Amino acid sequence: MIDLHAHTLFSDGSQTPTQLIEEAAAKGLAAIAVTDHDTVDGLAEALAAGERLGVEVLPGVEINCEYEQTTMDLLGYFLAGMPTDELQQELAELRVYRDERNARMVERLAELGLPLEPADLRAAGENGAVGRPHIGEAMMRRGYVSSISEAFELYLRRGAPAWVDRRRLALGHALRLLRGSGALPVLAHPGIIRTDAAGLDRIVRHAARGGLAGIECYYPLHDEETVRRCLGLAGKYALVPTGGSDYHGTVKPDITLGRASGGLPVPDHVLTDLRCLADDQLGRLG
Ligand code: AMP
Ligand code: FE
Ligand code: ZN
Repeated sequence: MIDLHAHTLFSDGSQTPTQLIEEAAAKGLAAIAVTDHDTVDGLAEALAAGERLGVEVLPGVEINCEYEQTTMDLLGYFLAGMPTDELQQELAELRVYRDERNARMVERLAELGLPLEPADLRAAGENGAVGRPHIGEAMMRRGYVSSISEAFELYLRRGAPAWVDRRRLALGHALRLLRGSGALPVLAHPGIIRTDAAGLDRIVRHAARGGLAGIECYYPLHDEETVRRCLGLAGKYALVPTGGSDYHGTVKPDITLGRASGGLPVPDHVLTDLRCLADDQLGRLG
């Protein structure tokens, strides 16, 4: 079993990298990608835990971006080793965008009679990425809501009373950034992008021209039809189909590590295919 999409306390997961890899080992996963939002600071700990526990850890990152008014997430896999410093700089800027947005959302919540303290919102490490799930969790701790998903539904989702948008990278820029730092970029969970079939096709075509390497076909929120559609786009634009659970621990209680579409594991060949591509495109792997 493999899982190419998972989060830790360095962004909005509930576990330390070590705890995540321990769970992966206990579940018998052969490989897991650690893909926190806008930070790579949890990767060293995850790689060390992987060595110790005999789980192959793929270092990765997840970056939110936009194309023609639509937002989407890119996963970047550093299959040839850790990324360059340039990426670190850009990620630091993205975390500033987050902090600005978070502060404004906290202001809105205060206006709605739901005050939070700055200390309520924290991710692990110096360079953790704080996001809306942290706000939701803080609201739950204070008894304002009974679950993180209720916090999203009532206050935090796009268009809800406390929602504030944040600046994000253009899709083409994010692709160049990931390629430039030695990563293979993969379009995350296409099935939850807010667009129609024609819009998704335009996004994937644009991304494929900009260096996209893969498309996340196997994903818990993708039904059979969506998986088929994504596999079709993979064929059409010569992309590697990948998959993962987007595990967040207790932050997203409905998701199970190692389980994707239909509760099934991600096919093992996905990682082999990604490696073959990396071999071709990133040079010899160590
Ligand atoms: P942010 O990056 O701060 O804008 O927050 C986005 C994160 O919130 C992503 O990890 C989403 O998967 C997560 N998210 C979005 N909607 C919900 C929801 N209804 N319940 C829990 N998490 C959500
Ligand atoms: Fe995502
Ligand atoms: Zn994710």
